[in-house]
Amino acid sequence: MKVRAGLGYDIHRLEEGRKLFLGGVEVDFPKGLLGHSDGDCLIHAVIDALLGASGESDIGRLFPDEDPQYKGMRGTEMLRKVMARIREKNMEILNIDSVIVAEKPKLAAYIPRMKKVLCPILEVEEDDLGIKAKTNEGLGSVGREEAIACWAQALVRKKD
Ligand code: MG
Repeated sequence: MKVRAGLGYDIHRLEEGRKLFLGGVEVDFPKGLLGHSDGDCLIHAVIDALLGASGESDIGRLFPDEDPQYKGMRGTEMLRKVMARIREKNMEILNIDSVIVAEKPKLAAYIPRMKKVLCPILEVEEDDLGIKAKTNEGLGSVGREEAIACWAQALVRKKD
């Protein structure tokens, strides 16, 4: 069995008056993540982890910033497209683990909903998708509530 790991990281700036999407869920907060797409940096990190694990390039190559068709695109829609490529390559996800680094808002209550949205798309059980939320202890741009960053790691295998 050939197993491959991939790592993803993403950070987006927080801006007043935008909706905040994380893990495919709208989070109640006065600021949202700036981006050409919906700014869902958890999904973007997961996508980069999956692309890395499956031997593809990266999210910027797949969904270029300057391409108007991706403007405002929901992270869930991007993830569905990436999963179609993974299936085409006859691969499946073994597990994904991820960390959201956000000073605010508190996200623990949203994690079950994120899993409900993401697990069916990723075709994994809920205990095969780890989502952890932590603060940056007040340090740096994330600590000043100027941005939210996410890390993700994916393990995939090629089916026989
Ligand atoms: Mg991004």
